Amino acid sequence: MSKQVRLVSSSTHANRIAPHSCLNTALLHSAPHPALELAAGFGRWWFDPDTSQMVISAVAAQYLSVEPGHHSGLDSCFIAVVLDDLLPLISHLTTPQFNTASVDFRVISPVDGLHWLRMTGLPADPSHPSMVSGILVDVTPTVHATMRERLGFELTEFLVGSHSLGDSITNIIQLICKTLGWDWGAYWAMGTSPQGTQQLSCKYLWHHPELDLTSFQQESSDLLLAPGEGLVGSVWESSQPDWVEDMANDLRFSQRTGDRNCKLWSGYAFPVIYVSEDGQTHSPGVLEFYSSLQRQPEAQLPRLSKVIGALIAQMAQRLEQQATILHLAQVDGLTGLSNRSHFHSQLTQACAHATSNQGGLRLIFIDLDRFKPINDAFGHEAGNVVLREFAHRLRALAPNHASLGRLGGDEFAVLLAGGSSAEATALTDLILQAARTPFVYEGAELTVSASIGVSSFPENGVTCPALLQSADAAMYRIKNNGRNASGMACISTPTALAQQQSSMAERLTLEAELHHALQAQELFVVYQPIVDIARDHLHSIEALIRWRRADGALVAPDVFIPIAEQSHLIVQIGKWVVAQVCRDLATLRAANLKNVNAHVNMAAPEFTSATLPTELLAQLALFDLAPGNLTLELTEGMLMKRPDQVIPVMRALRHLGFGISLDDFGMGHSSLSLLKNLPITSLKVDRSFVRDLQQQGNDRAIVKTIVDLGKQMGLSVIAEGVETQGQLSLLRQCDCTLIQGYLLGRPMGVADLIQKYAKQ
Ligand code: C2E
Ligand code: CA
Ligand code: CA
Repeated sequence: MSKQVRLVSSSTHANRIAPHSCLNTALLHSAPHPALELAAGFGRWWFDPDTSQMVISAVAAQYLSVEPGHHSGLDSCFIAVVLDDLLPLISHLTTPQFNTASVDFRVISPVDGLHWLRMTGLPADPSHPSMVSGILVDVTPTVHATMRERLGFELTEFLVGSHSLGDSITNIIQLICKTLGWDWGAYWAMGTSPQGTQQLSCKYLWHHPELDLTSFQQESSDLLLAPGEGLVGSVWESSQPDWVEDMANDLRFSQRTGDRNCKLWSGYAFPVIYVSEDGQTHSPGVLEFYSSLQRQPEAQLPRLSKVIGALIAQMAQRLEQQATILHLAQVDGLTGLSNRSHFHSQLTQACAHATSNQGGLRLIFIDLDRFKPINDAFGHEAGNVVLREFAHRLRALAPNHASLGRLGGDEFAVLLAGGSSAEATALTDLILQAARTPFVYEGAELTVSASIGVSSFPENGVTCPALLQSADAAMYRIKNNGRNASGMACISTPTALAQQQSSMAERLTLEAELHHALQAQELFVVYQPIVDIARDHLHSIEALIRWRRADGALVAPDVFIPIAEQSHLIVQIGKWVVAQVCRDLATLRAANLKNVNAHVNMAAPEFTSATLPTELLAQLALFDLAPGNLTLELTEGMLMKRPDQVIPVMRALRHLGFGISLDDFGMGHSSLSLLKNLPITSLKVDRSFVRDLQQQGNDRAIVKTIVDLGKQMGLSVIAEGVETQGQLSLLRQCDCTLIQGYLLGRPMGVADLIQKYAKQ
């Protein structure tokens, strides 16, 4: 803004401004009347370069804070001009090409502080060709307007996001300093000390580069001011601007001008205040400006400081909002951990960083077991309590540098940079323990456990999706093997690859053998009783398949059913099981077990076949049986995977009179509310709830809720895996009367079944 003028050496001026020759004071008479001048908004001046004498009008004199009329030298006329601007001004005035050009300079008035003046030359007067003359205008309002505009621009720049708040505030401070002639400017932000008290700290500052303010800057940066303390503290407390006229002798600066070396003299501090939409007044900080000059209070400053304060406040408010928005966008509201998308970007960044530094990463993927039933039985608030508390425990366990995220429902993740696998294992042990420790909700103890999978960078992958997938797969293996444990992702080393290949070969061999087994009649079906303990009689039986190889070894269905499912051999096996069950039911009927119906386990590929109902009907017809004699069991997992295909088949079967049971209920992701719309006749409470019934109160509550709800919906509820009398009596207390388990009967052949129950 200030016009840059090349400095001319002072000896040159001395020669040019000749000491003698007289400026005709009569010139003054050609000046307009002061009132007219004022109304026109300018003063007049005449200068003789040969004698360096100056004549100024009344208004010009008022602007320059000197006496009007004749001045024998420029120094007496420009006594109030800011030193920095004096040489450029004189140089400009004495340049022969001055003519109609203009120069801006600053004047400090003892009455109302700093002003900006513009001196403009007029064309030479033919009667006095050696003389220069012109007008003097006070351009302070224009300068301030431009400054406000620039401040607005700075603010817009910030809002658009090209600057950080620090850069913007520093820019604004610098702008104010340069425009208003301050040598030091700083923003003090109000914050909270570790003890929880309020304190102001010097956050952003700018000072004139030519002024050595190192010690003042150091003292300011180290200083923390309580409300009321120092000039800044008292301005914050009173919310009123304030002046300082002699910093070195002002007690409010005792902490900052300790070495008396401070080159600053006077200054001004004012509060940054804004009122938010809810009507609350906020005071985020204080701005201070100091000068090396002895300056007096300036009339325009309070007005201007309001504008500046409001702009900075708006910025601070916007920043707070942006910080809140950013926080909301990155954080999971319930637990305060990173949300899924933010955790993914943290992981992506960590991968990039580890790639360039050849570092290592470990990703711990945690899934809570049996969380869903807690939600169902105790309500969402109970589930929230568990999630919040688990996140809290996780935070306490994880090292400071770890990133923690909640990836969804009951899934959490921990990202560790560097560290050994032993460290990760130690941490997963602690996490397992933390998950097992009961959670308390309204006096009730809720218990869950965790399944954890760990993957490592670069062994299991070098990207976010690859690491997540490996950790997820490792976690799923744990879940399928009984939960409450952790496992490492499979590593694609040559040995691991060889192992994978050999297990693939094993799988293919097993598949071929299973084909053969079906033909060679190595498969057979056993039946486990489902007993109605209220009436003390055999309610039904569950058909469970077995494979005995030619060498006599038994293969568990958990091993071969998944292989059969992958190869679609399961459809053939399923048909064979149904045929066998129908045949055996006929045998049971002949042996006087007339009312016993059978449960048959179904695999997903069977349940998506539209021809299933007619095939089943045909089998039943062969043995003179009715659809009501068969209950088909399917798991929640099957149902949830392809509800669009599975549910229509279920409906068709229900319509024909088949029973349909939801197996392993409580383990999957369906919820009790979903049950209402399903065409089912019974529920089988998963074995894992029954197992811990005696130890865990929440399992009891879950079972009770499932039984109650089942009853309300007209479903029978069967408890599986009952092994002890204790479990049995608790189930009885829960009103669960259909019991299946080793306690009452292991899976057995038809002959044993007849022997055990036909006498009844
Ligand atoms: P499932 O349908 O949940 O079957 C119950 C499993 O629990 C059976 O294991 C049964 O022997 C076992 N069990 C019963 N009572 C107890 C107890 O008190 N304690 C313990 N620890 N276990 C008990 P099994 O026979 O090994 O069958 C395993 C799974 O294989 C079955 O789980 C079912 O998903 C599948 N499966 C069995 N037969 C068939 C079939 O014919 N077709 C299909 N698709 N799947 C079958
Ligand atoms: Ca079953
Ligand atoms: Ca089951």
